[in-house]
Amino acid sequence: MKKDTRILHAGRHPEQFHGAVNPPVYHASTILHPSVAAMEKSGKTPFEGVRYGRFGTPTTFALEEAVAELEGGHRTVATSSGLAAITGALLAFLKTGDHLLMTDTAYFPTRKFCDSVLAGLGIEITYYDPLVGAGIKSLMRPNTKVVFTESPGSLTFEVQDIPAIAAAAHGGGAIVMIDNTWGVLTFQPFTKGVDISIQAATKYIVGHADAMLGTITAATPELWLRVKTSLAAFGHSPGTEEMYLGLRGLRTLPTRLRRHAETALRLTTWLEARPEVERVLFPPLASDPGHELWKRDFSGGCGLFGVILKPTPKAAVDAMLDFYSHFKLGFSWGGFESLVIPTSDHSIIRTATRWAPAGPSLRFHAGLEDADDLLEDLERGFERLACSGS
Ligand SMILES: *Cc1c(COP(=O)(O)O)cnc(C)c1O
Repeated sequence: MKKDTRILHAGRHPEQFHGAVNPPVYHASTILHPSVAAMEKSGKTPFEGVRYGRFGTPTTFALEEAVAELEGGHRTVATSSGLAAITGALLAFLKTGDHLLMTDTAYFPTRKFCDSVLAGLGIEITYYDPLVGAGIKSLMRPNTKVVFTESPGSLTFEVQDIPAIAAAAHGGGAIVMIDNTWGVLTFQPFTKGVDISIQAATKYIVGHADAMLGTITAATPELWLRVKTSLAAFGHSPGTEEMYLGLRGLRTLPTRLRRHAETALRLTTWLEARPEVERVLFPPLASDPGHELWKRDFSGGCGLFGVILKPTPKAAVDAMLDFYSHFKLGFSWGGFESLVIPTSDHSIIRTATRWAPAGPSLRFHAGLEDADDLLEDLERGFERLACSGS
């Protein structure tokens, strides 16, 4: 079966639920066991089957099974947010005295977690240039346990050479994690040497801006057990409605994603040619410095891209952003609606590399609106920019 078809079937077992197409939403804490013997037996395999609400219900297992299929990994653990998946995965593999190599382009809350919680635990963190490739070898130390990647990078969209990084990391005895939220369906992490893949499922998997959800998918049974054991110890217990919304979203993910990507390509091609624009950050564009790597490793794009404007007063940019009809101001992305955020003013923190464009930068999410309407919205925005800038 092709991938689109497999995603429709993934995690669905109608025969277990009276033929219902979708798994029911289980609200459960206590699970009753028929005998002491059955209770004892289930205790021997604590993470298999339905045992106690905190360890998951059939709704949880359906979502986890579907995401493992989508990512192409062994097995998945769901979490209450994308950030919880990142922090949960890191804490499952790092302890005091260990060293972590973290991409300089990590999602900002990931960096904040490293600099506060992990540093506080006595874990050493080195931020590295996302374009380091095989050069990561020279940054490896005997105590390096995890190399964390995110490709394309948050807000600045650098494409990482994951196979080269993974080969060097494995050579030095470390595992490789990726925040694969942008590449949700188009980057198959486990064929590229990744050990742990993380999704902010809040974005494209949920896809409707109505739930928080994260997932951690492991390449092997051993890695999965390590993640599951650690998350269970911390008491992670993501909500059952969220599982359902994740499952519901992912059935239409391939179709939505193609439309998001198509619209984004049209918008970015148009934006590139505008006199107000210095640079567009979108690997599917032939002009993007990451285009060749993207073409090699990804099978498509999505709706998220960056724009650097030529130097423009803040008031003019604000006037442009404040009155868009479709590009609304809000965090997150991956829902059906178009969004925009300003990313200048210190939202982009880099310590291993330099990021200092002369003009203001923005991040857009192309939603599922008609692309003609979105283009017109952008055009009207530039008219406001011109009026307020002069
Ligand atoms: C949004 C986001 C996250 C965090 O996801 P939440 O569900 O909001 O916690 C992690 N990584 C990336 C790349 C994101 O864009």
